[in-house]
Amino acid sequence: MKKVVKFGGSSLASAEQFKKVADIIHADKERKYVVPSAPGKRFDGDTKVTDMLYECYHLAEAGKDFKKELADIEARYQEIIDGLKLELSLKDEFKIIAKNFKEKSGENYAASRGEYLNGIIMAAYLGYEFVDAAEVIRFDDNGEFDPEVTNRILSERLAGMECAVIPGFYGAYADGRVKTFSRGGSDITGSIVARAVKADVYENWTDVSGFLIADPKVIENPEVIENITYRELRELSYMGAGVLHEDAIFPVRKEGIPINIRNTNKPKDAGTWIVESTCQKSKYVITGIAGKKGFCSVNIEKAMMNSEIGFGRKVLQAFEDNGISFEHVPSGIDTMTVFVHQDEFIDKEQKVVSAIHRLADPDSIDIEADLALIAVVGRGMKSTRGTAGRIFSALAHANINIKMIDQGSSELNIIVGVANEDFEDAIKAIYDIFVMVQI
Ligand code: ASP
Repeated sequence: MKKVVKFGGSSLASAEQFKKVADIIHADKERKYVVPSAPGKRFDGDTKVTDMLYECYHLAEAGKDFKKELADIEARYQEIIDGLKLELSLKDEFKIIAKNFKEKSGENYAASRGEYLNGIIMAAYLGYEFVDAAEVIRFDDNGEFDPEVTNRILSERLAGMECAVIPGFYGAYADGRVKTFSRGGSDITGSIVARAVKADVYENWTDVSGFLIADPKVIENPEVIENITYRELRELSYMGAGVLHEDAIFPVRKEGIPINIRNTNKPKDAGTWIVESTCQKSKYVITGIAGKKGFCSVNIEKAMMNSEIGFGRKVLQAFEDNGISFEHVPSGIDTMTVFVHQDEFIDKEQKVVSAIHRLADPDSIDIEADLALIAVVGRGMKSTRGTAGRIFSALAHANINIKMIDQGSSELNIIVGVANEDFEDAIKAIYDIFVMVQI
């Protein structure tokens, strides 16, 4: 068995956390490939090293003095090295970084140093080989991650290595220039490494004991999801559920490798298993609830719309021409509604309205703002009657008006639209009916 283990920033924020991580790795000899993030927050109000690097580099880019800021970053690493009693010096590395910052090597290079340096420390501490991600993770000329070239280079490189540390979050273009993923991107690196070594499991170690059924900011102490499929997770992460970067499932999904979310501070907790498919029933009919505020609905009416071929395309073209992506498009006989992100839409709304008039000649257009969308996701819905009914009666009992209902034909999720101000109450009502009240 081979396991790839990725540790998040809070798991590596201090020497004490590094020790926990090493204990976890040593507890299982199958944990052979390690992907570290940069040191995160040690306490509330602390700053992540990645944010310190961005800030420091912005000074350098503006031609300002950045010595103190860089020294503060060096001190964060030195504290870890000293705490681990390692014979390691990062002095030369920091000289190179200072020189590159002066030469304006770019924000991507700057941010990547957080993981790069943490990787060097981790490799020294574990006695594993260090592999610079810039040599094995490739971006194409358009700045897009290149999965196939990366998989070839990385699998060849790791083939001869029993154990290795590969820093998360970055890679490079073919010419060697460093490029990072979006924030939280070490999750993607872990998944890429798991695919390359054909791991049996990708363990993603963080500071919570798994994926929660609902956002803990809305529901007090929500239960942990034990098993979830990639598709369910994708729906939930898209709707704002955190923990794992939303692109992290793609590389492992190709190989059917399960992801296990674990808690570095509670290593005995089983965490959440993210799998391709499972015959394990989820504990409740629904697997999870997530949602986002800040949507607008654009309601377009035209008598006899149902028989006009091409009407939908013309309406959507008005959005496309203005560079606005749409979220959902429920439709009726004479109406069609397009849900969009309010902040993307607000400056362009009149342009879109006139474009719809020009292209589709509707009878009227009505815009409603400050809406929230809530996704209730669960593979169990397919085989259970009455799920939608339970959602709607829970919302009715909580006195919440439903503005929109959308159920995909896959029966994996039901999306409801409510007013922004009803968002929290709606999630509570849905959580209560499925998790608190078991029938
Ligand atoms: N250190 C990077 C960030 O803070 C990447 C990561 O931790 O995954 O976003």
